[in-house]
Amino acid sequence: MRRLDGRTALITGAARGIGAAFARAYAAEGASVALADIDITRARETAAEIGPAAIAVEMDVTRQESIDAAVSETVERLGRIDILVNNAAIFTAAPLVEITRADYDRVFGINVAGCLFTMQAVARHMIARGGGGRIINMASQAGRRGEPLVAVYCASKAAVISLTQSAALNLIEHGIKVNAIAPGVVDGEHWDGVDAFFAKHEGKAPGQKKREVGEAVPYGRMGRAEDLTGMAVFLASDEAEYIVAQCYNVDGGQWMS
Ligand code: NAD
Repeated sequence: MRRLDGRTALITGAARGIGAAFARAYAAEGASVALADIDITRARETAAEIGPAAIAVEMDVTRQESIDAAVSETVERLGRIDILVNNAAIFTAAPLVEITRADYDRVFGINVAGCLFTMQAVARHMIARGGGGRIINMASQAGRRGEPLVAVYCASKAAVISLTQSAALNLIEHGIKVNAIAPGVVDGEHWDGVDAFFAKHEGKAPGQKKREVGEAVPYGRMGRAEDLTGMAVFLASDEAEYIVAQCYNVDGGQWMS
C-alpha cells in the first residue's frame, strides 16, 4: 500500500517548481493529481511527464469563475477532491517607498484571495460529499518575519498562516484538516527575477545574492523542491490525522520557533 493510494489531489500552481514536485510525489504515492495552473501549456507538459495519474487543469486563482470551473473539472475528471494544495503564488520585491497599489493588489489577489477562495470552493465540495479531506497552504519563512525589501510578499505569507489557522478551526467540524508548510529559500526558476532585483537594488553581481542566501542556510545550501515533498505527503496522509492548524517550517534550519 502506498500512502495516498486511492486519493485525489488538486494542486494549484503545479506547472513547475514546488507544485510540480508535489504532483510527482503524490502520484508516486498512489494519488491521482490535477495540476492546476494559469500556464496550461506547461501544466500539460508536466502532467504528461508524470503519466496517467496526472491531469492538467487551467486555473487563474484570481478569478472566481476560473476557481469554480477548475474545481468542477477536477471533480468531473477525477471523481472527487480529497486533498487541496494551495501553492500558486508570486514573489515581489521593492523598497517600501516604491511599492505600488497595483503590485499590492496583484500579490494579495493571487497569494491571499486566491488561497482563501480556492479553500472555500474545495471545502464546499468536501462538505457536500460528507466531509473529510486535507488542505495544505504554502506559506513561507517570509510570513514569519519582515524583510526590508519584501514587505508585500512577507505580509501576504503572514496572511496565509493566519488564514490557515482560521480555516482549520472552522472546517475541523467537517473533518477537514487544514495546515501549512513554510519553506525557507528554495531554488527554482523564480530566482532569475529575484537575483536580478537584488543585483540592481543592492549593487550585487549576477548570482551573488542567490549564492549568499544559500550560504546563510544552516543546512549549508538552498532548499530544493524535493526537500519539501516529504512534508507535503505526510500532511496529506493518514499519519497526519490529528494535525490541525499547524504551519511547519521546512527550511534547513533558517527559522526556530
Ligand atoms: P514558481 O514561481 O516556480 O511557481 C508558481 C506557479 O504558480 C507557476 O507555475 C505559475 O504559473 C503559477 N501561478 C502564478 N499565478 C497564478 C494564478 N493566478 N493562478 C494559477 N496559477 C498561478 O513558485 P515556487 O518557487 O515553486 O513556489 C511555490 C510556492 O512555495 C509559492 O506559494 C511560494 O510562495 C512558496 N514558497 C517558495 C519559496 C521559494 O524560495 N521558492 C520559499 C517559500 C515559499
